[in-house]
Amino acid sequence: MANNEESRGLKSLFDWFANRRKSGSTSLERQEREIADGLWHKCSKCSVLAYTKDLKANQMVCVECGHHNRVDSDERIRQLIDNNTWKPLDEHLRPTDPLEFRDRKLYSDRLRETQDKIGLIDAVRTGLGQINSLPIALGVMDFRFMGGSMGSVVGERLTRMIEQATQRRYPVVIICTSGGARMQEGMLSLMQMAKISAALQRHKDARLLYIPVLTNPTTGGVTASFAMLGDIILAEPKATIGFAGRRVIEQTLREKLPENFQTAEDLLQHGFVDDIVPRTQLKNTLTQLIALHQPVLTTPHMVLWETMSLTSTAAE
Ligand SMILES: [Zn+2]
Repeated sequence: MANNEESRGLKSLFDWFANRRKSGSTSLERQEREIADGLWHKCSKCSVLAYTKDLKANQMVCVECGHHNRVDSDERIRQLIDNNTWKPLDEHLRPTDPLEFRDRKLYSDRLRETQDKIGLIDAVRTGLGQINSLPIALGVMDFRFMGGSMGSVVGERLTRMIEQATQRRYPVVIICTSGGARMQEGMLSLMQMAKISAALQRHKDARLLYIPVLTNPTTGGVTASFAMLGDIILAEPKATIGFAGRRVIEQTLREKLPENFQTAEDLLQHGFVDDIVPRTQLKNTLTQLIALHQPVLTTPHMVLWETMSLTSTAAE
């Protein structure tokens, strides 16, 4: 009898712990759940917890250490384009699997899973819009979609957008982030480099402005083509920018590479990048650069005034 009661007591104690675990009532569990729910964001650099709403208000730049957290294409468009002016282009273009490629899984399955998971058709979004009332054609790569890899749809969307911009005489801005070419599309993916570059050359021949913005990371075939073809090349602080990965180069050269190798700061020092612009200043910097290259009559007074004051500050 006593044994029964003891075991009942023990059982209920187990139940109590089990229930407590299930209800997630400890503060640590609650904290973890809130991070998972996206209420809080832990900085991957300095580990400081920030309220996601505050972090978003600061364009996902850590207020503590200035680390530029990764931003998806939705957020980028919101940060750069004036409200209600975004007109997406070529949303109907969908990737296919012409090689019926299989690595650990079928490419077609991988595509479908990624599309379902993040709600995008491919790794770039293109469109026309206004930045502080100036018209631009904007392409934004999204690293969440297979590492921002450049497949046929990425190439075709960017090419069509650049062609539209040439026709309308709009400047082009591309926010780059990519692991490189999409190996699952083989040669078709490599051809995109030449196709986009040719469209950019025609845009340049029409004496129009192109500004790529290199964000973390910009590598492989994207660096080897449109990311480096800008009239003015901007980068975000501490972004990794390179062609082959650090480890591959170290193994080939059998040399240890310096700590800041392939960073935006190193590239700026060696003349591959024209300026490093913190994300919170990107919209204004792009506006000023575009305004400087616009005919004066189409420049809104405020932007022109800002540009003039910038020029006079620089002259001093
Ligand atoms: Zn931080």
